[in-house]
Amino acid sequence: MRFSDLPERLREVRDRIDAAVQRGGHRQRVTVVAVTKTHGPEAVDAALQAGLQDVGENRVQEALEKMDAVHGAVRWHLIGHLQRNKAKQVTRFDLVHSIDSPRLADAVNQVGSQANRPVDVLVQVNVVGEETKGGFALETLQAEGERLQGSAGLCVRGVMAMAPLDADEDTLRRVFGGARRARETLLELGHPATELSMGMSNDFEVAVEEGATLVRLGTVLFGAREASA
Ligand SMILES: *Cc1c(COP(=O)(O)O)cnc(C)c1O
Repeated sequence: MRFSDLPERLREVRDRIDAAVQRGGHRQRVTVVAVTKTHGPEAVDAALQAGLQDVGENRVQEALEKMDAVHGAVRWHLIGHLQRNKAKQVTRFDLVHSIDSPRLADAVNQVGSQANRPVDVLVQVNVVGEETKGGFALETLQAEGERLQGSAGLCVRGVMAMAPLDADEDTLRRVFGGARRARETLLELGHPATELSMGMSNDFEVAVEEGATLVRLGTVLFGAREASA
C-alpha cells in the first residue's frame, strides 16, 4: 500500500517536534498540517488513518477535488497563494494561511460577510523582502492589523511565514522570529492571533524552536513529489 510507512514517519516527526519545543522553550502545542498537494485523495485517507486531521493544499481546485473524494473529518487548510477570483471558495476551508495583500484580505472579508460567517485566516508575512513571494513586510503589519480591526467577514487567527528555499540558520531565525513578533503586533491590536504557521520539511525544527504552532509538512511525511508544485 502506498504511504504505508506514514505512521512511522509521523512518529519520528513528532519526536523531532517535541525535542524542538523543549529546546525552544516556548511551550507551545504544535499541530502537524499534512501537505498532500500533488498526491491523490489516498494521501488524505492515509493521513486520517494515521491520526492527522489537518490537511493542507496549495491550490484551490486540487483541494476541492479532494474534498469531494474524501469522507472523514478533515480540517482543510489553504496554504498557497489565493487568486482573488477564487475568493468565493474560501468558505470551504477551515483556515486560509495565505492572506498576502490588502486586496485579497478585502475580497475574503466580503465573502465572509456575505456568508454571514467570518473566515479564519492567517496574515502572510514576507520578512526578508523576497520579491518572488507575496506577503506583508513587517513595517506594514501594524497598519494592516489596524485596518482589519473592522472586518466582520474574517477572523485573524495568526501569522504565516515561509523561509527562502536555501536559507541558512541565521536567515531562518530572522524569518521565524520576525513572524513571531508580527503575531505579537496583531495580538496587541486585539486580534485572536494565537497561531504561527511556519516550518516545512527542511526547516520545521528551527520553526518550532522559534514558536511555530502549525507546521506544514509534505515531503517528510509522504515522500518526494513527482510534479513540482
Ligand atoms: C508544498 C508546501 C509545503 C510543504 O513542503 P515540504 O517541503 O514538502 O514539506 C509547505 N508550505 C507550503 C506553502 C507549500 O506550498
